[in-house]
Amino acid sequence: MRDTKYEESCGLFGIFGAPEAVQKTYFGLHNLQHRGQESAGIASSDGQFIQCYKGMGMVRRVFRSGSDILQKLSNPIAIGHVRYSTTGTSKAVNSQPLLAEYSRGQVAAAHNGNLINAALLRDEYEAYGSIFKSTSDTEIIIHLLAKPTHLAKPDPLAHVLNHLQGAYCLLFLFSDRIEAARDPYGIRPLCIGQTEKGHYVVASESCAFDAVGAKFVRQVEPGEIVTLDKNGLTSRFFVKPGNVTPAHCIFEHIYFAKQNSHIFGENVHEFRKKLGRRLAIEHPADADVVIPVPDSGTSAAIGYAQQSKIPFDMGIVRSHYIGRTFISPDQKLRELEVKLKLAVVEEVVGGKRVVVVDDSIVRGTTTRGKIRTLRQAGAKEIHMRVSCPPIRFPCYYGVDFPTKEELLANNRNLEQIKEFLEVDSVGYMSLEGLLDCANLPADHYCTACWIGKYRIPIDVAVNKFTMERYQMRMFDEIE
Ligand code: SF4
Repeated sequence: MRDTKYEESCGLFGIFGAPEAVQKTYFGLHNLQHRGQESAGIASSDGQFIQCYKGMGMVRRVFRSGSDILQKLSNPIAIGHVRYSTTGTSKAVNSQPLLAEYSRGQVAAAHNGNLINAALLRDEYEAYGSIFKSTSDTEIIIHLLAKPTHLAKPDPLAHVLNHLQGAYCLLFLFSDRIEAARDPYGIRPLCIGQTEKGHYVVASESCAFDAVGAKFVRQVEPGEIVTLDKNGLTSRFFVKPGNVTPAHCIFEHIYFAKQNSHIFGENVHEFRKKLGRRLAIEHPADADVVIPVPDSGTSAAIGYAQQSKIPFDMGIVRSHYIGRTFISPDQKLRELEVKLKLAVVEEVVGGKRVVVVDDSIVRGTTTRGKIRTLRQAGAKEIHMRVSCPPIRFPCYYGVDFPTKEELLANNRNLEQIKEFLEVDSVGYMSLEGLLDCANLPADHYCTACWIGKYRIPIDVAVNKFTMERYQMRMFDEIE
């Protein structure tokens, strides 16, 4: 039950050398739409010159069907981006790819993640006279790339990446190639695919490959730069492999990634079913029906029903026709949005003892609203089950959780959470249970939003204060 503005930061797609690279990028972005709905953009190159088109809204709105934008962009090398802003305001000027011209020619950059040293780097560059056109941390990376002392290094891109701290998957489109890079901790996913005709593709999630008939090859490794050019695919590392223990965001598995994606070495749907089975063992319930909060709670609810032998049903249905509303900054409008998106099926829950399975709870206010609707529909008992531990700390690596104070579980014990949600019982997955379900060793995942230990240290005051200052200063352009 998504109860607030609580979004992933972005989705990336790139393809080299395919005759319909731009159209394929368009379809790839469609399959990554769940990672960002604020803006979309595509940059393409004919081998010499880069063009870029982007705008506010979802992919189909920006690249309106029937318009000739895709035709005009048509080139054999392309990268694309869908955005949700975690750093930088939701404005057209911050949409991506960011296209720039510097001493070595043109470059377009697309970024998924969040740089925690963005404010410090921006201060440093502004002090030397750099002028920024946006509040996005991605623009800072372009400034780093253009710096003459960095360009003098044998591998300028690798040198620049070593200045960045935080979560980043990056695509750079140069006129003759695509460079794809992933931060040394591998916080966000990035993977490589190949089409039947042998063209290489890179995307945030493997579900984007399905849209273009490509097969998953492998993930881009943490600390790796992959080059797609006329020679095929080549790889180099900007951080020695094995020097850093990964910190993959396990929330990608719980909530963000699509069920048909393979990330961090396993399928998302299967992983979520494992969570559901474990949740049923940790927190059984005497009930008549298991219902999910669609869509991200569905796989875990299936697992819960399988393990508990309680019938599974769709007691809440989701409308897929309501896009993200850009005018929902306050709680009332957010609640209305959730009401429109999630409707209760009275025939499924009326007179029943209901287990409601959700992937996570953030503020809890709209979850409570939905519980009230289930009661109005006649549910006799409601047992809330959550397939991740209580979220107690904010994320600084690209996920838009509210402040610590706003999080439901920050200063409440289980009994208080139960009272707040107005449910008959509540059960959260344990951290141990969550990590037991994962394929990789426990120390290969970030768990900071549950335990508050940030693998990449955060200087909250500097980061937050400075970025807010930039945003206040941001001019209000006409969009
Ligand atoms: S703090 Fe939570 S949401 Fe953020 S990267 Fe870590 S696991 Fe993912």
